Amino acid sequence: MKYDFYNSMGYDPRAVSFVEAAQEDIKGVLNAIEEQAEFNQARVLKAFNDLQVSDRHFLPSTGYGYGDDGRETLDKLYAKVFECEDALVRTQWASGTHVLSDSLFALLRPGDTLLSITGRPYDTLNDVIGTSSSQDDQGSLLDWGINYQEVPLTDDGEINLETIKEILLKKQIKLIFIQRSRGYNWRPSLKVQDIRKAIETIKKISPNTMILVDNCYGEFTESAEPSAFGADLAVGSLIKNPGGGIAPTGAYATGTKKAVELLASRLTSPGLGREVGSYSYGYVQIYQGLFMAPHIVGQSLKGVTLAGSVFKRLGYTVTPSPEDTRSDIIQSIKFNSGEELIDFCQAVQASSPVDSHVVPYPWEMPGYEHKVIMAAGTFIQGSSIELSADAPIKEPYIAYLQGGLTFTHMKLALMNVLTVMMRKGYIKL
Ligand SMILES: *Cc1c(COP(=O)(O)O)cnc(C)c1O
Repeated sequence: MKYDFYNSMGYDPRAVSFVEAAQEDIKGVLNAIEEQAEFNQARVLKAFNDLQVSDRHFLPSTGYGYGDDGRETLDKLYAKVFECEDALVRTQWASGTHVLSDSLFALLRPGDTLLSITGRPYDTLNDVIGTSSSQDDQGSLLDWGINYQEVPLTDDGEINLETIKEILLKKQIKLIFIQRSRGYNWRPSLKVQDIRKAIETIKKISPNTMILVDNCYGEFTESAEPSAFGADLAVGSLIKNPGGGIAPTGAYATGTKKAVELLASRLTSPGLGREVGSYSYGYVQIYQGLFMAPHIVGQSLKGVTLAGSVFKRLGYTVTPSPEDTRSDIIQSIKFNSGEELIDFCQAVQASSPVDSHVVPYPWEMPGYEHKVIMAAGTFIQGSSIELSADAPIKEPYIAYLQGGLTFTHMKLALMNVLTVMMRKGYIKL
């Protein structure tokens, strides 16, 4: 019956059995991901219990939002789950880029130096730092007299601790930037243990150097977060992992009391800091999203692992490999041409629950240097914890596939995508 229905949906039977075979190959990996999700669920459950989260925390607030119990408890909840001194969770942040920008401006002053130790940061940060090709004065760090330096990852994709040590011994670095996830780069994501080692090394040589982690896409992929190991700030978007697919907007920051305080002054204003900010929509989805996040991230990890397995079997170069342990929810797949890349993304869009009839094309997205195609047939606009695929149109032709609220959705989407790719002549099954 199932297969007849798949047939009626237009899935080629060869595509269906190919995906099922690729799933057989990774049974052990899928089990390990379930174990991980269970442990993270326990960590989140305990935090909810410890803070006695209750109905009243979900209520809306208005105006200044003084004494907003829902907002304040949410901050405490994130601080507990992320095992650090303090946190801010705010719907006033429009995106991950926004909280990253605020964090940079909060911690840096004119004359300071920012050092990125994971190579060039995520595309949208170029305009923030002042490294983009656009020369307009938009108030970037550079415009404010803040210097920027970067150390690329080693050829093996590791943090180059030797070079960083040399720099720290020679000059005063105010802030070090670490990007956990791969972003739009053909590089591995960093493990929390690697970040921990880097933080310990840096703090030993230069205790006053602060550390900012771009934690986007990494949350709940491992059993601890970078903020548990001394990152001054680790920040991310609520429409990725920690929003569990339910949070409608916003971002979070976790870290030390001091750094979070500075960030709060930047978010609203000096003097007001964290004490203001209302949300007349109510907080239930942000709480429920955090509660769901370990499970949803697990589903997403299982889904992208299956995608990796499928495309590896087809002979494409993929990273990570299906058997690798993951520390973000992205599967990179290298295609043979720009056309194939676009067809892939369009097939992902056609497999979505929302706007499956809409065809995405590459466009000049604000903040990105190349044209980008984005498949995102999502409930929350642009949410990438939901099934989505992005690709800058440049060589090498790499699609970044991520999310999937349910493993089964990703599985069905892969059947559809393979059917399309067969029909277009890219693959033979
Ligand atoms: C998504 C992401 C960001 C922020 O992007 P927004 O779209 O502004 O939320 C930053 N860094 C990385 C690595 C990301 O994946």
